[in-house]
Amino acid sequence: MCNEINTLLKIVQAGDPTLRKPARKLTKEEILSPAIQSLIGGMRDTMRDAPGVGLAAPQVGVGVRLIVVEDRAFSSVESLSAKDLSARERKPIEFHVLINPTISIDDPMTTEYFESCLSVSGFMAVVPRAQSVQVNALDETGSPVSISASGWYARILQHEIDHLDGVLYVDRMNTSSLTTTDNYKRYIGK
Ligand code: ZN
Repeated sequence: MCNEINTLLKIVQAGDPTLRKPARKLTKEEILSPAIQSLIGGMRDTMRDAPGVGLAAPQVGVGVRLIVVEDRAFSSVESLSAKDLSARERKPIEFHVLINPTISIDDPMTTEYFESCLSVSGFMAVVPRAQSVQVNALDETGSPVSISASGWYARILQHEIDHLDGVLYVDRMNTSSLTTTDNYKRYIGK
């Protein structure tokens, strides 16, 4: 993958039809193509710039089954303390790419935390998510990867893979918990 700075991509917002359509799989040939390699670089830079901990291709208006994930375990919005990070089982995750992912629930016990989405800008809500999941996918070279994830990482994967099926967190949230990001900071965030 190339490392030069890419042009930032436009993140589409809720209401854009691409966010609600199931995305299509990529072939290995497509994965290795300049177009998809360039999309990966652009999504990485766009996610870091936002900043976010994950980004799915439909969020930049491209209906293919590709996500990027990276968590530096630091959120300026939530201002999480070490204790909060630990309660969420949130640890740093290296940048990686998952293509054509399939997800299965390892531990159906759910945890509930506030989530936000770069495509539902300005809002947050509590979303129940499975505690641990198994994901099989291809990486940016088209090689198979298998991931067992728990805690916050499992939450990120569930959120991002939902995007590939046209699902947003608002479809799964506890509706009465919906808050603006400003009011989250004012009344809820510590
Ligand atoms: Zn999202």
